[in-house]
Amino acid sequence: MKDLTPEELRRASNKFGSPLYVYHGERIEFQYHRLKNAFKDVNVHLHYAMKALNNINILRLIKNLGSGLDAVSIQEVHLGLRAGFSPNEIMYTPNCVSFDEIKEAVELGVIINIDNISILDQFGHEYGNSVPCCIRLNPHIMAGGHSNISVGHIDSKFGISIHQMRHVQRVVETHKMKVNGIHMHTGSDILDAEVFLRGAELLFETAMQFPDLEFMDFGSGFKVGYKDGDIVTDIEQIGDKIATAFKQFCADYGRELALWFEPGKFIVSEAGSLLVTTNVIKTTTSTVFVGVNSGQNHLIRPMFYDAYHHIENISNPSGTPRLYSVVGYICETDTLGYDRQIPEVREGDVLRIKNAGAYAFSMSNNYNARLRPAEVLFYKGEMHLIRKSETLEDVTRNEIEVIS
Ligand SMILES: *Cc1c(COP(=O)(O)O)cnc(C)c1O
Repeated sequence: MKDLTPEELRRASNKFGSPLYVYHGERIEFQYHRLKNAFKDVNVHLHYAMKALNNINILRLIKNLGSGLDAVSIQEVHLGLRAGFSPNEIMYTPNCVSFDEIKEAVELGVIINIDNISILDQFGHEYGNSVPCCIRLNPHIMAGGHSNISVGHIDSKFGISIHQMRHVQRVVETHKMKVNGIHMHTGSDILDAEVFLRGAELLFETAMQFPDLEFMDFGSGFKVGYKDGDIVTDIEQIGDKIATAFKQFCADYGRELALWFEPGKFIVSEAGSLLVTTNVIKTTTSTVFVGVNSGQNHLIRPMFYDAYHHIENISNPSGTPRLYSVVGYICETDTLGYDRQIPEVREGDVLRIKNAGAYAFSMSNNYNARLRPAEVLFYKGEMHLIRKSETLEDVTRNEIEVIS
């Protein structure tokens, strides 16, 4: 898959300035098709996890590929509907939200995923068998990676424990509820097929207790490469193994169900870059810092998850590599990259921080009263501005002046 060139990226930063998020539409399409094609001979549906990146144009691009949506808040549900998804294409997977928010989602007609027995009980009491629901289970599978992004383990707040199935059954039977799906999402960093398959087996066993299933949802956790040599999810291998196991399950269950996934990162991570400009080169006794006009306010993953994001110098791609620590301008230790070999960086050079498609803009904030950057989409040979950068006016819009 051809990447955006340094020339194209420079064209974007020359026209729209920096910092700037740049997305590559074709890369998103490529990732979608690659994932979809990995699951052969099964009825597979993808529901894009929109919390990764939710610009309306990105949502529409992904919708046009045939994808559904996974939304985790009522606001995301509204954004999905606004982008043109129909309610039955949206899966609403909230955690620790009020029952009122779930009722609102039912009224909007979206698919409801319940991850708490108390909510399941209220749902059954309110709707009986008139509104189906999916149940999110926690299989207690420990997916690799940072603890913040490992959500299936014993201490996790997500899902209903697989050990509480007897309780779930009582609630479902009491209210005569229709359970149309079983869901698990084990975490955001899965290295191989084993974790998936262990979770899958547990789900298959549990599914036998529910006669009304229409789908089984295996969440996400597909890992993408952040640097050369990274172990990434072998999608084709996982697809093969899961499809085989799923076909066997459907045979045992007696009916063909749909197989769902909710990829976020896998679809958009590599399609995005954050372009930043070097404000200063600062040499200290131990380090050469590259200070850029961005930071944890625009890309918090390095500080929040210890994530590695590759950094390139698109102004001087053939310069002599030198060792730098790239840091932001926020009054925090917002190191974007430690000890990186980067072609010589000069003040004014534009750097490209890679893998800024997922959880970059969507986690951005206004700390230090800084503004969120614009977003640009390269698609079908054209460069589109898809979000203007913020103004100070945007940041102070809801302030009410009561002290003079
Ligand atoms: C965040 C999330 C996803 C997407 O995870 P990625 O690692 O971005 O693929 C899928 N499902 C649920 C329920 C989520 O919360």
